[in-house]
Amino acid sequence: MAQIRRVTVVGAGTMGHGIAHVAAAAGFEVAVHDVSETAIARGLAAIRADLERGVERGKVAPDERDRALARLAPAPDLEAAAAGSDLVIEAVPESLALKADVFRRIDGAAPVHAVLATNTSSQSVGTIAAATSRPQRVVGMHFFNPVHLMPLVEIVRGGATAEDTLETALAVGQALGKETIVVRDVPGFATSRLGVALGLEAMRMLEQGVASAEDIDRAMTLGYRHPMGPLRLTDLVGLDVRLAIAEHLWAELASEVFRPPEILRRKVAEGRLGKKTGEGFYRW
Ligand code: NAD
Repeated sequence: MAQIRRVTVVGAGTMGHGIAHVAAAAGFEVAVHDVSETAIARGLAAIRADLERGVERGKVAPDERDRALARLAPAPDLEAAAAGSDLVIEAVPESLALKADVFRRIDGAAPVHAVLATNTSSQSVGTIAAATSRPQRVVGMHFFNPVHLMPLVEIVRGGATAEDTLETALAVGQALGKETIVVRDVPGFATSRLGVALGLEAMRMLEQGVASAEDIDRAMTLGYRHPMGPLRLTDLVGLDVRLAIAEHLWAELASEVFRPPEILRRKVAEGRLGKKTGEGFYRW
C-alpha cells in the first residue's frame, strides 16, 4: 500500500473544497487546484467558514482548525502540484472529455507511485483511467455532499485498478474518518442506482394516485427510518439533476426501472426543479 502524505485536490467547487477540508483535518498536506484562482480562493474561504462553524458548535477545537488551515495551500499550477503528490483526487465537473483531459495532465506530471482518484458520480472509472499511462493506479473515490458531514466514501474498482491501489483508497477513506464500501465500476455504482430507483418509483406512485407526496415520503421516514423521503430528497438534489441521472442509467443499464416518469419530465420542462426554483414536488 502506498504511503500517502501529500494530496492534491483538482477542482475547488462544492465537492473539491469539502474533500480538501477533510484531508487537511485528517493530517494530509493538501494542495488545492482549480482553473480559476478566484475559485481556489472561494474554496479555501468555504473551508475556513465550515471549520469556524465547527468551532462555534464545539465540534472542532480552535487548534485543530488552525492546524487544518495551515496544511492547505493554493495550487494555481496543476502540473507542479501533481508532481509533489502521493494522491491526486479529481473533482472537476461531470464531463468525460474534461476528466480525461485533466487525468492526462495529472498522469504526465505525478510521480509513478502516485494514486489518481476521481470523484465522478456517474462516469466510468475505467474510461477515465484509459486516458492515463497507469490505469492500475486509478480508482474511484465517490464522496457525498457536504463532504465534511457525510460518512460514506464509495470506492470504485475499475477493471484495471490494482489491489494495492484499492487498499490505498480504502486506507485513505478510513484516515479521513469515513466509512467505505467497495463497488465494481458499473453505472450508478451502488448509491445512485438504489437511490434513483427509489425516487423514480415514488414518482410513479404519485402519478398513479397511490398517496400524496407527503404520505409517500412519510412511508419511508416513519416506516423505514430514512432520514428524508424520496420526493423531498429529489427536490433538494434538483429534478433536472435526477432526470439526467435517470436518463443515463436507463440507457446504460437497459432497465425499465430507470425510465424517467412523465411527471418528472413535465416538471423539468416547466422549470419546477425543486428547492432551487421554489417548487418541485413541494413548494419551498
Ligand atoms: P462544482 O461545479 O461545484 O465544482 C467544480 C470545480 O471544478 C469548479 O470550481 C470549476 O472551476 C473547476 N474546474 C472546471 N474545469 C476545471 C479544470 N480543467 N481543472 C481544474 N478545475 C476545473 O462541481 P461539484 O458539484 O463539486 O462536482 C464535481 C464532481 O463531483 C463531479 O464529477 C460530480 O459529478 C461529482 N459529485 C458531485 C456531488 C454533489 O453533490 N455536488 C456528489 C458526489 C460527486
